[in-house]
Amino acid sequence: MSQFHRPRKRFGQNFLNDQNVIAATIAAAQLSEHDHVLEIGPGKGALTDKILPVVEQLDIIEIDRDLARQFTERQTEKLSVHVGDALKMNWSEILQQPPYKLVANLPYNISSQILFKMISHRDLFERMVLMFQKEVGDRLRAEPGRKEYGSLTVLCQLWFDVSRVMLVPPSAFTPAPKVMSEVLCFKRRQTPRAEVKDAAFFARVVKASFAQRRKTLRNCLQAGGFSTEQVDKAAAQADIDLRRRGETLDIQEFSRLSDQLQALL
Ligand code: SAM
Repeated sequence: MSQFHRPRKRFGQNFLNDQNVIAATIAAAQLSEHDHVLEIGPGKGALTDKILPVVEQLDIIEIDRDLARQFTERQTEKLSVHVGDALKMNWSEILQQPPYKLVANLPYNISSQILFKMISHRDLFERMVLMFQKEVGDRLRAEPGRKEYGSLTVLCQLWFDVSRVMLVPPSAFTPAPKVMSEVLCFKRRQTPRAEVKDAAFFARVVKASFAQRRKTLRNCLQAGGFSTEQVDKAAAQADIDLRRRGETLDIQEFSRLSDQLQALL
């Protein structure tokens, strides 16, 4: 049936047709017979069919009921099919046997939301190999001071070592998207890049710091709900100039600032 499936734009359906890209993605996941894997958006199975034979357990989440049917028909103890929206599903409930490897050619319109969700469930994942629009890849690998550097960069790089597997041209997909893509590998670090006392609070500070791009850190933090007094004191303790912009702070500086702000609450 999948042969005659008309790609659905609203689900970001660009199916991989390039065997080299498929092989490089699978190789980067370093799969073995003991692995548990989550694939989001298996589509017609370009990656799924390579993953399933070599791992112990594969969970897939597919929103498109028509595409999911081919997998539900093949469901076994080894293959669990979850039909629905990966953003709305409770991953902790589905993924009962961590650690998992996450492999996905993600629909571009939800890739940032998937990443934020993945970060909040980071303990479940040891390694992830994900396809993004190249612009998103640039953001995830960005260094402080670059315009691509943002909250997603900081939050990903805190927990994961991020590297490029390969650039992927539009011709690798059917239908071809208008933009270049990129496969990235995320390897969870043994210890985070900076010590963070409270990860949720750190995320709040980082998001507030990037919320208004052209504003100073002082304005951003105040707009994020911190008082002038709190911001001034914390910045002094953390030795950070509040006239700077969020995109100039490295992860260690964000961690100092976040810990100092929290100590004042
Ligand atoms: N993995 C296949 C491949 O590489 O050829 C398909 C990739 S296609 C870019 C994205 C897939 O994600 C589609 O199968 C689409 O139906 C599915 N999808 C889109 N939004 C989703 C969501 N919110 N939750 C789960 N799957 C989703």
